[in-house]
This record gives sequence, C-alpha cells and structure tokens, in this order.
Amino acid sequence: MYFNGRIWKLSTPIDVLRFKALSFIDRIKLGLLVFQIRKFKDWKSIEHLSIREWLEPLCGRKVYKVVWEPLIKSKFSEFSEEISAVWMWKKLELRGSTRDKRGGEQLAYFKGGFGKLSNALVLEIRKLGGVVQYENFVSGITVQDGAIVKLETSSGTVYGRQFLFTPAFPIIANLFEEHCDPKWIESLRRVNYLGNICLVLRLNRSLSDTYWLNVNDPGFPFVGVIEHTNFDLPENYGGSHIAYVSKYLSRQNHLWELNDDEYFEFALTSLKKMFPTLDRSWIIDFRVWRADFAQPVTERGYSEYVPGSSTPFQNAWISTMAHIYPEDRGTNYAIREGLKIAEVIHRDLSINLGNLSKD
Ligand SMILES: Cc1cc2nc3c(=O)[nH]c(=O)nc-3n(C[C@H](O)[C@H](O)[C@H](O)COP(=O)(O)OP(=O)(O)OC[C@H]3O[C@@H](n4cnc5c(N)ncnc54)[C@H](O)[C@@H]3O)c2cc1C
Repeated sequence: MYFNGRIWKLSTPIDVLRFKALSFIDRIKLGLLVFQIRKFKDWKSIEHLSIREWLEPLCGRKVYKVVWEPLIKSKFSEFSEEISAVWMWKKLELRGSTRDKRGGEQLAYFKGGFGKLSNALVLEIRKLGGVVQYENFVSGITVQDGAIVKLETSSGTVYGRQFLFTPAFPIIANLFEEHCDPKWIESLRRVNYLGNICLVLRLNRSLSDTYWLNVNDPGFPFVGVIEHTNFDLPENYGGSHIAYVSKYLSRQNHLWELNDDEYFEFALTSLKKMFPTLDRSWIIDFRVWRADFAQPVTERGYSEYVPGSSTPFQNAWISTMAHIYPEDRGTNYAIREGLKIAEVIHRDLSINLGNLSKD
C-alpha cells in the first residue's frame, strides 16, 4: 500500500503488525478483521448495508479511514457510500481464502494472458464450422410473435434461432427499447456502471519490487499501480517491464476528454511523485485503454434489483458481467456464467429441435 509518501508491505500478518501508520491496537483490529470475515457466510444479512456501515463497527473508524475508505473511493468514486457491504465481504473473503501456511497470498496467472484463451476459443469455434466476427456492432433487432428473428449489424443482417446478449445493460436497453415494456427497460438501466481508463506502460526497468500497489494517499488519482512483471517474468515480455495504472470514473469526468498523450502526461506527473527517480527515458512505449462500462456498481440490495438472464423474448437471453455476484466481475467468473447460460440455451434448442422433428 502507498500511504503517507511511502510503500508499506501488507501481504502477511507480520506485515500488518509492522504497519506503523496505525496504532498497535488498530493493527490488531485490522488483522482480526480478516479472521472475522473468513467465518462470516450469511451475506444476505448485510446486503442492505453500505461498506462503511458494515466495516466501521468491525474494525474501528481509524482503520476504516486509513485502509478501506481510500480504496473504496478510488474504486467507486461518487458511488462509494452506496456500495453494498457484500462487495467488500466477498473481496476480503476471497483474498483471505487464498493464503499459504505463512499467510502469504497465492495467485495464479493465465500464461500468455486471456487473449490467448480467447484466440483458442475462436479457433475451436471455427474448426467446428462456427463464424466469429470482430468489430461488428449490433444496432437493432427485429421481433416477430414474441421472438427475435434477426439483428441489424454494421456489416449486415444476421438471422438466428437463439440469441445471447453479453454487453452492458444500458447497451441492451437501447437495442430492446422499442420492443419491450418500459418497466423492464428501466430495470436494465437501474444498474449503474463506472468506466475505466487504463494506462499500460512498457518500461526498460522496474518501478519497484511490488506487484500490486494499492494507493491510499489522498490526492493520487489512481486506485493502484500494478507492475505485472513482478508477477509474471519480464522474459515473457521481451525483457520489458510492464506496469499499468487503472482509474475508475463516471462518464461525466473531464479525463475522458484527454487524448492519449495528454493522459500519459497527467499520469506521469503523479507517478513521479510516487517514484521520484522515475525518468521519462524509462518508458519505451505506452497505450491508453478506455472502457465505458468497466465496473457494474453493486449498490445496497443489489440482488433484489439486478435483472435476470431471461428477456421478454422467448429465444433471447442476457449474460453479462453485471450478473456476476456476490463476487466482483472477473474473467474466471465470466467463464462460469458462460457455461451456465450455454446449458440453458442448449436445453432450449434441444427442446425446439425435438418439437420440430415431431411436427
Ligand atoms: C483495468 C481492469 C483490469 C482488470 N483486470 C482483471 C484481471 O486481472 N483478471 C480478471 O479476471 N478480470 C479483470 N478485469 C475484469 C475483466 O476485464 C471483465 O470482467 C471482463 O472483461 C468482462 O467481460 P465481458 O465479456 O462480460 O465484458 P466486456 O469485456 O466489456 O465485453 C463486452 C463487449 O461487448 C462489445 N459491445 C458493446 N456494444 C456492442 C454492440 N452494440 N454490438 C456488438 N458488440 C458490442 C464491446 O465492444 C465489448 O467488447 C479487469 C477490468 C479492468 C477494467
């Protein structure tokens, strides 16, 4: 964690005891919190509480202010006081459950990145006779007798028997709007999202020896600095050091107006405060990635208002990252949800084909 102008290691119980930014009593409270949370399972009972309402009584005001509040603020910006305690509970529970005997965190990385997995899936689909298209945007649907019959896309019409929609709810709401009950459309739009701007740096040397650096210093505009090659080896990246700084923000934030070079300069100013020896010459290359709908906002009572996978159409389903709950979205859960919805569609297709053969 970056706090008060320095990096604190907070990976093991011993590190927590050495975290002098808190009094000794508060360090004990912080450590005990992990054990309390590991035992807690009844997440429904805290879903109506915000993170602050749940955590402050457990760990005390000071621990909350120093350790948790800055992280929640930079992750959820203006929504930070509305987020359900369940989100935090699941994060802490998952992090606590992947420890080795000495309390260190065990993490795994998909060798070659998730792009490799996607490419393998695409190859397999094509081998089986399927078609995968890129940069092809769906702009409209045609409905007949309660079923979708075709999609309009940027490269023509696509006919189909079953349809699965996977982008963010607001995008699906725009596509379905003309054809559905406004109340259902409203339920899709009820789920708020934050966007993300992620600056990826290719460096000729390392920034620090930390993999995941949470930033708890007020005034630093990023949720964290992640030096990926402190986890996976630089040799796998042509000897370069790869780091990224991530920022979650609403669509109204002025930072969306910056072009890539301007955003890089904005980030560099902050990074230099954190790593004073960092020199521009260390940076071989950079990329800025922007996503409008990067983080569903799981407000209090989320399970009661998040729409399910079915739609008003008999042959269309939705499966999106906003369905991943109580875990926070992530690619491994996307695979789990994908398998679930594939089974539903497969079952439905089998029944329909069965009816066809009877006819
Ligand atoms: C900075 C950052 C770091 C992350 N790190 C990790 C990590 O280390 N590990 C991990 O597991 N997860 C990580 N995640 C989360 C992970 O990226 C998401 O969970 C995952 O990308 C969600 O996949 P998805 O397919 O549901 O949504 P998306 O990846 O958002 O895909 C939706 C797709 O729909 C497309 N689309 C939108 N509108 C249309 C349209 N009209 N027609 C056709 N297509 C359309 C979009 O272009 C997009 O490609 C990270 C996220 C961020 C922002």
